[in-house]
Amino acid sequence: MSVNLAPALIKNTSLRKIGILGLGRTGLAALKLATDNHINSFIYDDNHELAPAASISLFKPYTEWPWHELDAVIFSPGIPTYLPAPHPAAILAQKHHVSIISDIELVIRLQPESKWVVITGTNGKSTTTALTAHILQHCGKTISVGGNIGTSMAELDSPGINGIRIVELSSYQLEITPSLNPDIAAILNLSPDHLDRHGSMEKYAAAKANAVQNVKPDGLIILGQSPNLQPLLPAKHTARLHLIMASDTPKTTHQNFALSGAHNAENAAVAATICREFGATETDINEAILSFKGLSHRLELVASVEIDGHQIRIINDSKATNDAAAAKALASFEHIFWCAGGLAKENSLPNCISELAHVEHAYLYGDSKNLFEKELSGLIPITVTHTLEEATTKAFVAAKKAVIENNSDSFVLLSPAAASFDSFKNFEERGKYFCDLAVDLCQQHSLNTQVS
Ligand code: ADP
Repeated sequence: MSVNLAPALIKNTSLRKIGILGLGRTGLAALKLATDNHINSFIYDDNHELAPAASISLFKPYTEWPWHELDAVIFSPGIPTYLPAPHPAAILAQKHHVSIISDIELVIRLQPESKWVVITGTNGKSTTTALTAHILQHCGKTISVGGNIGTSMAELDSPGINGIRIVELSSYQLEITPSLNPDIAAILNLSPDHLDRHGSMEKYAAAKANAVQNVKPDGLIILGQSPNLQPLLPAKHTARLHLIMASDTPKTTHQNFALSGAHNAENAAVAATICREFGATETDINEAILSFKGLSHRLELVASVEIDGHQIRIINDSKATNDAAAAKALASFEHIFWCAGGLAKENSLPNCISELAHVEHAYLYGDSKNLFEKELSGLIPITVTHTLEEATTKAFVAAKKAVIENNSDSFVLLSPAAASFDSFKNFEERGKYFCDLAVDLCQQHSLNTQVS
């Protein structure tokens, strides 16, 4: 059955009675916020144990909710509204003309004070959001950071009328946050992703475009460098438009390993442009950039060993779950021994194929190994392995050999270009597994070196 999204929530419709579907962190935080604001809630999760004892009287299967009385229903981020198949509650919502909304919509309705900065894009959202927050904090601003990164919005205290909310939003969240009206909105880039839930690139792009449709008239829209972003602009807007240029990148960016690569220079340019709007000086921005530690699983330097004055650096980029993100990693280093594979999101690797100049050898593993082998064969040397462990070990041995033979540094890089779900719970678990392997391999190498 095909279902369109439930109708957008009409502005100013007050929320008096709502449903909350999903009782993970997001749902529970939404429940608390709703209760604190005297909104009556009905709650449900397939896992009945998640219902808090104090709210057990609100727990009811969604089939028994008084749909004709509900003003909206809050869906947790993982629950599909229409694809691959609509959750049965989405069908009920549509039948009863009840809007499906995000926890972010609830926060906008109840705590609109503060400046709102929204950051979206296919890749780089978390890095840019964390970096923006880091710089503004360095400048002494009162901020609160959340959304698709770390903490759900409903869980955060309002930073107050003089504070700034820095909000990372995914395409799913953007689809169900109709009252979004930010002071600043940035779209970093756009490439195919999550098409199983959006159905087509057009629908995915339309979801991302929501970020910039209703920026405040005196606000600012920031677009990354890719020309495919400009069609996402609204037909008319009075907000200023800033198209990112190389000169927006703060000059210390290239001194911080955690911001390696041209893509991170662009992320830093976006973060700095946002912070300049809040009066951050170039000195503050450059200082803060130098002390930014980066995020785990994004071009994260895990370990290194030195051989005859040259380094093997092991890099965990487990968060690179698509072709576009992995291609950026391949463009960021030289002499790369590349571990790739998992559950492929796309049937081809066009971006990675354009960035193979610095790849010495690919070690393929996981569900996608035969697909990736077909894509890459004839372009670079390939070894198809059984597991990530075998791929990493073989890559490390080859990187050592290359350092000795070529007298140059080399990199063992996990940048999978695929999702982790074939063998791991999520990209974090995959990255942690790789980090543990990397540390073991380096320790083993040091022991062998001491013995010989
Ligand atoms: P997101 O939150 O959008 O998934 P992250 O900052 O977590 O973005 O980075 C995800 C992956 O994308 C990492 O592998 C990272 O190296 C890569 N990446 C980061 N910034 C960009 C960018 N601007 N363009 C393409 N890939 C990027």
